[in-house]
Amino acid sequence: MTDNCLFCNIAAGTIPAKIVHEDERVVAFADIDPKAPVHILIIPRKHIASINDISLEDNELIGHIHQVAVQLARRFGIADDGFRLVNNCNDAGGQTVYHIHFHLLGGRTMEWPPG
Ligand code: 5GP
Ligand code: ZN
Repeated sequence: MTDNCLFCNIAAGTIPAKIVHEDERVVAFADIDPKAPVHILIIPRKHIASINDISLEDNELIGHIHQVAVQLARRFGIADDGFRLVNNCNDAGGQTVYHIHFHLLGGRTMEWPPG
């Protein structure tokens, strides 16, 4: 837990969020400014600043996040139509919160290439 990190605080329950999934390693919650009808952020409880900072020991954790993403996609009814799972890394990638997170976006048709 990094005290001044927004997403560490959401994972710890000290800052409220609309939680949609919680387990011992991962928390998922609704994005406060949704960019699609379904917009969920999936984070590890472990503070990792960005995907640049993952190590080999995080492989299982990153795999688990993807399993949770698919479970949530099914639960929110977007698995069959399709969805997007996005990680933004650093400034040029559009990252604004420096606790690694994966955006699960769906409920509308996504465009390619992204902006
Ligand atoms: P990034 O730009 O780092 O990839 O994504 C950060 C995301 O966090 C944005 O989509 C933004 O709307 C969301 N966000 C920022 N502050 C909060 C907050 O306090 N609560 C929730 N639920 N989402 C937040
Ligand atoms: Zn954190």
